[in-house]
Amino acid sequence: MAERYQNYVNGAWTDASTGTVSTSTNPADLSDVVGEFQASSSSDVNTAISAAYGVKESWRRTSSLVRGGYLMKAASYLEANLEEYAQAVTRESGKAILESRGEVGRAIALLQYYAVEGANPVGAVVPSVNPNILLYTNRMPLGVVSLITPWNFPIAIPIWKMAPALVYGNTIVLKPASATPHVATLIARMWEAVDLPAGVFNLITGSGSQVGNELITNSKVAAISFTGSTRIGMNIAAESAKRGKRYQLEMGGKNPVIVLPDADLEQAAEITVSGAMKYSGQKCTATSRAIVVGNIMEEFTNLVVEKTNALKIGAGADPESIIVPVIDQASKNNITSMIARGIADGGKILAGGGIPTGGAYDNGTFVEPTVINNVATDAYIACEEIFGPVLSILPAANDEEALNIANSVDYGLSAGIFTKDLNSVLDFADRIEAGIVKINGETAGLEPQVPFGGMKSSSSGDREQGKAAIEFFTQSKTIYVDRSAT
Ligand code: NAP
Repeated sequence: MAERYQNYVNGAWTDASTGTVSTSTNPADLSDVVGEFQASSSSDVNTAISAAYGVKESWRRTSSLVRGGYLMKAASYLEANLEEYAQAVTRESGKAILESRGEVGRAIALLQYYAVEGANPVGAVVPSVNPNILLYTNRMPLGVVSLITPWNFPIAIPIWKMAPALVYGNTIVLKPASATPHVATLIARMWEAVDLPAGVFNLITGSGSQVGNELITNSKVAAISFTGSTRIGMNIAAESAKRGKRYQLEMGGKNPVIVLPDADLEQAAEITVSGAMKYSGQKCTATSRAIVVGNIMEEFTNLVVEKTNALKIGAGADPESIIVPVIDQASKNNITSMIARGIADGGKILAGGGIPTGGAYDNGTFVEPTVINNVATDAYIACEEIFGPVLSILPAANDEEALNIANSVDYGLSAGIFTKDLNSVLDFADRIEAGIVKINGETAGLEPQVPFGGMKSSSSGDREQGKAAIEFFTQSKTIYVDRSAT
């Protein structure tokens, strides 16, 4: 029988008031039930928010050095338990084990980075026109922040939100995706293990449609940090704006690479396939469109198809697997219907396009890595996020047309160009509508010490990660002290 897990509220493991649970399963083997998790209600969320609210003043008044100390201890805890956590990520999200180890490693790096941030200055002393006035700025925490996270990076994304939230003095309620609640309970166990004061971190599991509204609208919540689909994100923006709450949204992508005729085509094809297909394309920064300029189309396409056909499809627990199962049956159905729509719109399948069958493939949610061409630049498959192992190859007559195609979608998260020409590089870096720009590099794959976020419908609000996180998780205060009167 599957193990039952609880919410973590006010420093204690608790059942939801509903008395009901839901399960999460292993995408590589749908008969493997990872566990049972609390199907919480608004009232459970309210309890967690009240717990966070109750300690917000004491946490704010805790030295940021001490707050950073908890993060450093959490990093050490994760280091000591890296393999267990990585295996849990693979089992619940389907991710290839090497990538899961990398994800836990990234969570460790984030905790260490923000632990050190706790010792950094947060304000400035500024000259006043009046010599008697000491004029300075300070950064204050917001209070209680709701963190709503997706399943595709079940440990790195919660940590990249909560590490800065906590070190800058906020208290938090985490609502993870329903597909990956087990990894979230492991995050709670980490905070319990390092004796984070009760109420500072709280975990509520449950369906977004049941508990989401309370996390956003509760009057004790000062801000919401969300990562997920653009549809849900835009609704959070509207509800937050109505109530004057701060929000930060990281959403979808339709990330392009441009391949110019002077590029190293072998390298460009290798990186494009890696960006499009690893983790079966389930990264917000995954490459989804390859825009190929001039007469290199045939050679580049052949290389991409050859490399795609060589990718091993299998469970993430097998270190050889590159094409792992997608998160669930609904996602598999969505990807296959997107491919079918691409074909109906005139697309030609060059690799994959189907569902692998037989043996272990029948137990999981596998989709073949797929390359499609002959689609119009405004075709649905070439404009909308697929979140699966699907790459569209699009032709462009010249650099200018390629840039226009790249910028023609609503998203603007990550983008790349392959070329040796410096002018083309600088022009692309200047004009591409994307928050992350890669020159001769993969659209996915980021470092945590620099800001992360996109343009247009991909993001809204302040950037995440690096020094930029302070902008969202604190507010500025300006203090005038008239020394002549003291
Ligand atoms: P999703 O369906 O939007 O879910 C994200 C989170 O929102 C989950 O915790 C979900 O809970 C919750 N939610 C659902 N309905 C809600 C509601 N009405 N109110 C409040 N919260 C609600 O996205 P996903 O399928 O988990 O993740 C895939 C998407 O995330 C893709 O679009 C991808 O591009 C995006 N993503 C973006 C970034 C980035 O940094 N830009 C990074 C990773 C992923 P339930 O699971 O319970 O429904």
